[in-house]
Amino acid sequence: MTEDPFADPLQRPRYTGIPTLMRAPHTEDPAEADIALVGVPLDGGVTNRPGARHGPREIRNQSGLMRAFNPANRINPYELCRVRDVGDALIRRPFRLEDSLDDIEAFFREVHAAGAVPISAGGDHSLTLPIFRAIAADRPVGMVHFDAHCDTGGPRWGSAVHHGAPFKVAVEEGLLDPARTVQIGIRGATAEPDAWRFSYESGMRVITMDEFHGLGVEKTIAEARRVAGDGPTYISFDVDGLDPVFAPGTGTPEVGGYTTHEAQLMLRGLRGLDLVGGDVVEVAPPFDPSGNTALVGATMMYEILCVAADALAARRPDSPSDPR
Ligand code: MN
Ligand code: MN
Repeated sequence: MTEDPFADPLQRPRYTGIPTLMRAPHTEDPAEADIALVGVPLDGGVTNRPGARHGPREIRNQSGLMRAFNPANRINPYELCRVRDVGDALIRRPFRLEDSLDDIEAFFREVHAAGAVPISAGGDHSLTLPIFRAIAADRPVGMVHFDAHCDTGGPRWGSAVHHGAPFKVAVEEGLLDPARTVQIGIRGATAEPDAWRFSYESGMRVITMDEFHGLGVEKTIAEARRVAGDGPTYISFDVDGLDPVFAPGTGTPEVGGYTTHEAQLMLRGLRGLDLVGGDVVEVAPPFDPSGNTALVGATMMYEILCVAADALAARRPDSPSDPR
């Protein structure tokens, strides 16, 4: 235990210092982290309004409002494991989407090889594909996916990969187990009646907003847990799953989504799953003049951090932890 509480960035006034994710200490060495917080400044995969490349920086800024202890589930992730901001996935070729995804994959391979669990701030949703290529190469993962869109679409404008398609490609590459995938919040008009056909045909559990309203939060959590089961599971949280009243700052908003509190309850309800990573994507600061969408994104990232830290502690009870 340190003598000087100000040696711990989490104990300093929240408006001070360099704005790392959650005010966690920064390191460029993922071996120093049990949970690696990562920014992924990518928006080359969007089908409409760009801007999510600025998401990580604004989420960093707003995440300064987060504190350590979560009274809802009594988890303090910083007591359970070493949480570090390892910086942004370095995209060396930002003008080229496929090359950008390769750069992201290379970054996450280093994080994964170091043994750290990644929790990321995006960035458009195509970024989850290279994360899966890095962390799910040896076995497919299950997924609890919050989104207005299934993101299992086909090729668009000559490209198989874009932010509406990562989970079709991930299944085809053997990285994502569709039988252990649940998609929550699906809604909105589509260009064709069967735009999300792949989700249904591959066996994903699709919970539309209309079904969510019938089920309610508790039964939705139970269904998500049933589908994800005991295997390694990833949480992917697209902020456009929320109603745009709460998260207007995103590229493809869809009205009629869940509330921020419903989303918090659902994320907390995933405690006990074998969580191996997570992300919050599609925060687009150019459409977020108040900064509220970035705050919402940071808050969801914090909730994911709590349940992921709890899962990590359960998996590795002897893992090194911070003195704090
Ligand atoms: Mn999405
Ligand atoms: Mn979406």
